[in-house]
Amino acid sequence: MNRLPDNFNEPNAHAFCVLPWVHRFVNLCGEVQVCCTAEEHPHSHITHDSGEPVNAADGLSDEQIGDTRHMRGIRKSMLQGQWPAACERCMVTEEAGGNSRRCAENEHFAQHIPWILEHTDKEGRAPAHIRSRDFRLGNLCNLRCRMCHPRASKLLLEEWNRASRKSLRVTGEKAAKLADMDWFRDAALWDAFTASLPDLEHLHFAGGEPLVIPEVLQALELCVEHGVAGRIELTFNTNVTKLPRRHRELWPRFRKVNLVCSVDAFEPLNDYIRFPAKWKTIARNLDRIDREHEALNIGWATVSATVQVYNIFHLAELVEYTHRRFSFIQSMPNLIHLSFPQWFNVQYLPEAMKDATEARLLDLKARLAAQGAEHGLNQIDGIVRYMRMGDYAPHIMEEFRRATAVYDLMRGEVLSEIVPELAPLMQAPDPGARMRLLVGKVQRKARRFQGRFTS
Ligand code: SF4
Repeated sequence: MNRLPDNFNEPNAHAFCVLPWVHRFVNLCGEVQVCCTAEEHPHSHITHDSGEPVNAADGLSDEQIGDTRHMRGIRKSMLQGQWPAACERCMVTEEAGGNSRRCAENEHFAQHIPWILEHTDKEGRAPAHIRSRDFRLGNLCNLRCRMCHPRASKLLLEEWNRASRKSLRVTGEKAAKLADMDWFRDAALWDAFTASLPDLEHLHFAGGEPLVIPEVLQALELCVEHGVAGRIELTFNTNVTKLPRRHRELWPRFRKVNLVCSVDAFEPLNDYIRFPAKWKTIARNLDRIDREHEALNIGWATVSATVQVYNIFHLAELVEYTHRRFSFIQSMPNLIHLSFPQWFNVQYLPEAMKDATEARLLDLKARLAAQGAEHGLNQIDGIVRYMRMGDYAPHIMEEFRRATAVYDLMRGEVLSEIVPELAPLMQAPDPGARMRLLVGKVQRKARRFQGRFTS
């Protein structure tokens, strides 16, 4: 029988996570991955023993997927307390003092942990025990967020190809596939989904925008038809631009419904990032969720902000709005750091901008603490620490300038009018600056090297 230390679910204490046993994540292209938190990590794509990625269209059963060398390796490493490569994001989050999904999921599925410890052998082999499914049923979305990718919103394809560097553009067959994804219409997939319903405890949908994707509604209708909805907890990652009537009618039939509301900023800055969202509509829908949560059968709802170059200066407005406005929606938004696209990653900002944003964030934390807020304030420290993990990278900030200029031009927007603090980033590059930075780095290294031999 495997054992875990008593403190295994404290940040940085261990690497055990229930998800590789109880959860199945199928991404937007039908590929099977460990979980969506690890989505951007190459090792999170589950592979056949031949090394080929597993796709839902391959028709593998949960048992077969769980028995791949890759999955066994992940489980074995977790039980030994070693982070699998795929789980780097949770590891970094914990190291930075933030709230990792690992800890949250271990709490949520705690009742399955004794079974896992009893039924997993030394090599990470375990019978299939999937209780939770996360489906991304295609890339239909009504928004074209600046930090998104056409994989997640097909409407973004043209702008993405204009804004990003040549090596990242999506063209030819790949573009055609993204423009017309259909793997999730395969009848065999729906038969397998229907067969899995009796074991299901949790279904998660994101997108695309799940509240506008017809197949998400189809999945919900199937749960109701088969009489299992009352046992299933639903979670949606939604942009809260829509609360469709049929969803509102079906939600009370489920055990409960949880909403992760993706909102990246307050008022016009949110609309700038999450184009063409309208703040008025989002605010109205958030108010409705807050007010009608009982009738809608909402278990919990939170605002989730992706922290990036565009919003790092103005997170305070969003955080103070959620604290001031809501009595049911969690007052502290979930702050997630963005790592891709690199040019929106706050780690590469000039150091002076990092100093300024850090000061604002620490001010915000002090104000919230003075008002008696406690929950989730450590996330602010986590964001600051994450930002400080990287160095200013002028070539990446140049990509930021180019991508922002393209989006601004195509959308008739001007960054400096929305976030004046970022205006210096939009100035044409000083050709000498990069050289000075490089010389400075070489001089610092040389001094360190010399010091090793003179001390
Ligand atoms: S540790 Fe984090 S990244 Fe890894 S499976 Fe768990 S939640 Fe996903």
